[in-house]
Amino acid sequence: MLHIGCHLSSSAGFAAMGRTALSIGADTFQFFTRNPRGSKAKAIDPEDAQALMALLKEHHFAPLIAHAPYTLNPCSAAAETRQFALETMADDLRRMEYLPGQYYNFHPGSHVGQGMEAGIGLIADTLNAILTPEVTTTVLLETMSGKGSEVGGRFEELREILDRVELTDKMGVCLDTCHVSDAGYDIINDPDGVLTEFDRVIGLRRLKAIHLNDSKNPPGSHKDRHEVIGAGHLGLEALSRITRHPALRHLPFCLETPNELPGYQAEIALLRKHWN
Ligand code: FE
Ligand code: FE
Ligand code: ZN
Repeated sequence: MLHIGCHLSSSAGFAAMGRTALSIGADTFQFFTRNPRGSKAKAIDPEDAQALMALLKEHHFAPLIAHAPYTLNPCSAAAETRQFALETMADDLRRMEYLPGQYYNFHPGSHVGQGMEAGIGLIADTLNAILTPEVTTTVLLETMSGKGSEVGGRFEELREILDRVELTDKMGVCLDTCHVSDAGYDIINDPDGVLTEFDRVIGLRRLKAIHLNDSKNPPGSHKDRHEVIGAGHLGLEALSRITRHPALRHLPFCLETPNELPGYQAEIALLRKHWN
Protein backbone atom coordinates (compact mmCIF):
# COMPACT_ATOMS: atom_id res chain seq x y z
CA MET A 1 0.00 0.00 0.00
CA LEU A 2 1.39 3.36 -1.08
CA HIS A 3 0.80 6.01 1.59
CA ILE A 4 0.29 9.23 -0.28
CA GLY A 5 -1.44 12.57 0.15
CA CYS A 6 -0.94 16.26 -0.40
CA HIS A 7 -0.83 19.61 1.28
CA LEU A 8 -4.33 20.71 2.36
CA SER A 9 -5.79 23.97 3.61
CA SER A 10 -6.58 23.82 7.33
CA SER A 11 -9.15 26.63 7.22
CA ALA A 12 -12.17 24.31 7.61
CA GLY A 13 -10.68 22.44 10.57
CA PHE A 14 -9.05 19.09 11.29
CA ALA A 15 -11.83 16.59 10.56
CA ALA A 16 -12.70 18.43 7.35
CA MET A 17 -9.12 17.90 6.15
CA GLY A 18 -9.43 14.18 6.88
CA ARG A 19 -12.64 13.98 4.83
CA THR A 20 -11.07 15.94 1.99
CA ALA A 21 -8.08 13.60 2.01
CA LEU A 22 -10.38 10.57 1.77
CA SER A 23 -12.31 12.15 -1.10
CA ILE A 24 -9.17 12.45 -3.25
CA GLY A 25 -7.75 8.99 -2.49
CA ALA A 26 -5.19 10.17 0.10
CA ASP A 27 -4.22 8.34 3.29
CA THR A 28 -1.97 11.05 4.71
CA PHE A 29 -1.75 14.81 4.30
CA GLN A 30 0.12 17.92 5.33
CA PHE A 31 -1.20 21.20 6.71
CA PHE A 32 0.21 24.45 8.06
CA THR A 33 -0.03 24.72 11.84
CA ARG A 34 -1.04 28.37 11.36
CA ASN A 35 -0.94 31.00 8.64
CA PRO A 36 2.23 30.16 6.65
CA ARG A 37 3.45 33.69 7.29
CA GLY A 38 3.45 32.87 10.98
CA SER A 39 0.62 34.85 12.58
CA LYS A 40 -1.33 33.85 15.68
CA ALA A 41 -2.93 30.40 15.53
CA LYS A 42 -6.64 30.02 16.08
CA ALA A 43 -7.84 28.10 19.13
CA ILE A 44 -7.97 24.31 18.79
CA ASP A 45 -11.35 22.58 19.03
CA PRO A 46 -10.58 19.36 20.97
CA GLU A 47 -13.66 17.60 19.56
CA ASP A 48 -12.59 18.40 16.01
CA ALA A 49 -9.11 17.03 16.78
CA GLN A 50 -10.64 13.84 18.24
CA ALA A 51 -12.87 13.43 15.20
CA LEU A 52 -9.81 13.58 12.96
CA MET A 53 -7.92 11.08 15.13
CA ALA A 54 -10.87 8.66 14.85
CA LEU A 55 -10.96 9.10 11.07
CA LEU A 56 -7.20 8.46 10.78
CA LYS A 57 -7.53 5.26 12.76
CA GLU A 58 -10.61 4.00 10.96
CA HIS A 59 -9.06 4.54 7.53
CA HIS A 60 -5.53 3.40 8.45
CA PHE A 61 -3.83 6.70 7.63
CA ALA A 62 -0.07 7.04 7.73
CA PRO A 63 1.22 9.80 10.06
CA LEU A 64 0.27 13.36 9.13
CA ILE A 65 2.76 16.17 8.62
CA ALA A 66 2.11 19.47 10.34
CA HIS A 67 4.29 22.12 8.68
CA ALA A 68 5.67 25.08 10.62
CA PRO A 69 5.29 28.54 9.06
CA TYR A 70 8.07 28.86 6.49
CA THR A 71 8.90 32.41 7.61
CA LEU A 72 10.29 31.25 10.97
CA ASN A 73 14.06 31.49 11.29
CA PRO A 74 15.43 29.79 14.40
CA CYS A 75 18.99 30.75 13.36
CA SER A 76 18.39 34.42 12.56
CA ALA A 77 21.10 36.92 13.51
CA ALA A 78 18.39 38.90 15.37
CA ALA A 79 17.61 37.61 18.87
CA GLU A 80 13.94 38.64 18.70
CA THR A 81 13.46 36.74 15.41
CA ARG A 82 15.00 33.62 16.97
CA GLN A 83 12.81 34.04 20.05
CA PHE A 84 9.69 34.35 17.87
CA ALA A 85 10.62 31.10 16.08
CA LEU A 86 11.22 29.35 19.40
CA GLU A 87 7.91 30.49 20.92
CA THR A 88 5.93 29.67 17.79
CA MET A 89 7.44 26.19 17.54
CA ALA A 90 6.92 25.53 21.26
CA ASP A 91 3.26 26.59 20.89
CA ASP A 92 2.88 24.38 17.81
CA LEU A 93 4.23 21.38 19.73
CA ARG A 94 1.78 22.02 22.58
CA ARG A 95 -1.07 22.23 20.08
CA MET A 96 0.08 19.07 18.29
CA GLU A 97 -0.62 17.09 21.46
CA TYR A 98 -4.31 17.29 20.45
CA LEU A 99 -3.18 15.10 17.50
CA PRO A 100 -0.71 12.84 19.29
CA GLY A 101 1.98 10.89 17.48
CA GLN A 102 2.15 12.83 14.20
CA TYR A 103 5.05 14.68 12.52
CA TYR A 104 6.02 18.37 12.77
CA ASN A 105 8.21 19.49 9.88
CA PHE A 106 10.17 22.72 9.71
CA HIS A 107 12.74 24.48 7.53
CA PRO A 108 15.95 24.62 9.57
CA GLY A 109 16.51 28.28 8.69
CA SER A 110 19.01 30.65 7.11
CA HIS A 111 22.20 31.65 8.88
CA VAL A 112 22.20 35.04 7.12
CA GLY A 113 25.95 35.56 7.08
CA GLN A 114 26.74 34.18 10.53
CA GLY A 115 28.20 31.04 8.96
CA MET A 116 26.93 27.46 8.74
CA GLU A 117 28.42 26.39 12.08
CA ALA A 118 26.76 29.25 13.98
CA GLY A 119 23.46 28.56 12.23
CA ILE A 120 23.56 24.86 13.09
CA GLY A 121 24.28 25.69 16.74
CA LEU A 122 21.35 28.11 17.00
CA ILE A 123 18.93 25.62 15.41
CA ALA A 124 20.01 22.91 17.86
CA ASP A 125 19.66 25.38 20.77
CA THR A 126 16.07 26.07 19.69
CA LEU A 127 15.24 22.37 19.51
CA ASN A 128 16.81 21.72 22.90
CA ALA A 129 14.70 24.53 24.36
CA ILE A 130 11.35 23.23 23.04
CA LEU A 131 11.64 19.43 23.16
CA THR A 132 10.52 17.68 26.34
CA PRO A 133 10.33 13.95 27.17
CA GLU A 134 6.50 14.20 27.13
CA VAL A 135 6.25 15.35 23.50
CA THR A 136 4.61 12.61 21.36
CA THR A 137 5.30 14.42 18.08
CA THR A 138 8.37 13.59 16.00
CA VAL A 139 10.03 16.81 14.78
CA LEU A 140 11.36 16.62 11.22
CA LEU A 141 14.14 18.67 9.66
CA GLU A 142 13.38 19.25 5.97
CA THR A 143 16.13 18.79 3.39
CA MET A 144 16.54 22.16 1.66
CA SER A 145 17.69 23.34 -1.78
CA GLY A 146 20.57 25.36 -0.33
CA LYS A 147 19.42 28.71 -1.72
CA GLY A 148 21.02 31.78 -0.16
CA SER A 149 22.36 30.98 3.30
CA GLU A 150 19.86 28.16 3.93
CA VAL A 151 20.92 25.47 6.39
CA GLY A 152 20.02 21.92 5.33
CA GLY A 153 21.05 21.81 1.67
CA ARG A 154 23.69 19.22 2.58
CA PHE A 155 22.97 16.03 4.50
CA GLU A 156 26.00 16.79 6.71
CA GLU A 157 24.32 19.94 8.00
CA LEU A 158 21.23 18.02 9.09
CA ARG A 159 23.40 15.38 10.73
CA GLU A 160 25.20 18.07 12.73
CA ILE A 161 21.90 19.46 13.99
CA LEU A 162 20.70 15.98 14.97
CA ASP A 163 23.97 15.30 16.79
CA ARG A 164 23.47 18.35 18.98
CA VAL A 165 19.86 17.66 19.98
CA GLU A 166 19.66 16.04 23.39
CA LEU A 167 16.28 14.30 22.96
CA THR A 168 17.42 12.85 19.67
CA ASP A 169 14.69 10.18 19.60
CA LYS A 170 12.16 12.97 19.02
CA MET A 171 13.86 13.94 15.75
CA GLY A 172 13.71 12.78 12.15
CA VAL A 173 14.16 14.05 8.59
CA CYS A 174 11.72 14.78 5.76
CA LEU A 175 13.30 14.48 2.32
CA ASP A 176 11.91 16.85 -0.33
CA THR A 177 12.63 15.52 -3.83
CA CYS A 178 12.57 18.98 -5.46
CA HIS A 179 14.89 20.38 -2.80
CA VAL A 180 17.47 17.57 -2.90
CA SER A 181 17.63 17.70 -6.69
CA ASP A 182 17.97 21.50 -6.62
CA ALA A 183 20.65 21.02 -3.94
CA GLY A 184 22.68 18.92 -6.39
CA TYR A 185 21.90 15.33 -5.37
CA ASP A 186 21.26 13.20 -8.47
CA ILE A 187 18.00 11.52 -7.50
CA ILE A 188 17.00 11.44 -11.18
CA ASN A 189 19.76 9.10 -12.40
CA ASP A 190 21.19 7.71 -9.19
CA PRO A 191 18.56 7.39 -6.44
CA ASP A 192 20.45 4.45 -4.92
CA GLY A 193 23.60 6.55 -4.64
CA VAL A 194 21.73 9.41 -2.98
CA LEU A 195 20.06 7.07 -0.49
CA THR A 196 23.39 5.37 0.25
CA GLU A 197 24.83 8.81 0.95
CA PHE A 198 21.81 9.70 3.13
CA ASP A 199 22.27 6.47 5.06
CA ARG A 200 26.03 7.02 5.49
CA VAL A 201 25.67 10.64 6.68
CA ILE A 202 22.34 10.71 8.53
CA GLY A 203 21.06 7.12 8.73
CA LEU A 204 17.97 5.91 6.87
CA ARG A 205 16.20 5.17 10.17
CA ARG A 206 15.91 8.97 10.58
CA LEU A 207 13.98 9.34 7.33
CA LYS A 208 10.29 9.60 8.29
CA ALA A 209 8.54 11.23 5.32
CA ILE A 210 8.99 12.32 1.70
CA HIS A 211 7.80 15.54 0.08
CA LEU A 212 7.20 14.32 -3.46
CA ASN A 213 7.58 17.24 -5.86
CA ASP A 214 8.86 17.78 -9.36
CA SER A 215 11.16 20.77 -9.91
CA LYS A 216 10.90 23.70 -12.32
CA ASN A 217 14.70 23.86 -12.32
CA PRO A 218 17.59 21.57 -13.26
CA PRO A 219 19.63 19.65 -10.65
CA GLY A 220 21.98 21.85 -8.64
CA SER A 221 20.11 25.09 -9.37
CA HIS A 222 19.54 25.93 -5.65
CA LYS A 223 16.18 27.46 -6.56
CA ASP A 224 13.27 25.61 -4.80
CA ARG A 225 10.39 26.04 -7.27
CA HIS A 226 8.05 23.04 -7.21
CA GLU A 227 6.44 21.67 -10.37
CA VAL A 228 3.54 19.26 -10.90
CA ILE A 229 4.52 15.59 -11.16
CA GLY A 230 5.91 14.80 -14.60
CA ALA A 231 6.09 18.40 -15.85
CA GLY A 232 9.49 19.26 -14.39
CA HIS A 233 13.12 18.19 -14.50
CA LEU A 234 12.63 15.09 -12.34
CA GLY A 235 9.80 13.48 -14.30
CA LEU A 236 7.22 10.80 -13.48
CA GLU A 237 9.61 7.87 -13.93
CA ALA A 238 12.21 9.17 -11.48
CA LEU A 239 9.52 10.15 -8.96
CA SER A 240 7.70 6.83 -9.10
CA ARG A 241 11.06 5.05 -8.70
CA ILE A 242 11.30 6.96 -5.40
CA THR A 243 7.83 5.82 -4.24
CA ARG A 244 8.64 2.21 -5.17
CA HIS A 245 12.14 2.16 -3.69
CA PRO A 246 12.47 -0.73 -1.19
CA ALA A 247 14.06 1.59 1.39
CA LEU A 248 11.28 4.19 1.06
CA ARG A 249 8.05 2.50 0.01
CA HIS A 250 6.70 2.24 3.58
CA LEU A 251 7.00 6.02 4.19
CA PRO A 252 4.27 8.66 3.84
CA PHE A 253 4.64 10.62 0.58
CA CYS A 254 3.21 14.12 0.45
CA LEU A 255 2.68 16.20 -2.69
CA GLU A 256 3.40 19.94 -2.50
CA THR A 257 2.93 20.52 -6.20
CA PRO A 258 1.23 23.63 -7.64
CA ASN A 259 -2.28 22.13 -7.80
CA GLU A 260 -5.87 22.48 -6.67
CA LEU A 261 -7.68 19.40 -5.33
CA PRO A 262 -8.58 17.85 -8.73
CA GLY A 263 -4.93 18.06 -9.76
CA TYR A 264 -3.82 16.43 -6.52
CA GLN A 265 -6.45 13.71 -6.92
CA ALA A 266 -5.12 12.94 -10.43
CA GLU A 267 -1.49 12.87 -9.23
CA ILE A 268 -2.34 10.53 -6.36
CA ALA A 269 -4.15 8.18 -8.76
CA LEU A 270 -1.26 8.34 -11.24
CA LEU A 271 1.37 7.54 -8.59
CA ARG A 272 -0.74 4.72 -7.18
CA LYS A 273 -1.06 3.28 -10.69
CA HIS A 274 2.72 3.39 -11.16
CA TRP A 275 3.44 1.85 -7.77
CA ASN A 276 2.62 -1.82 -8.48
FE1 FE B 1 8.66 22.80 3.45
FE1 FE C 1 8.83 20.48 1.07
ZN1 ZN D 1 10.08 23.86 -1.44
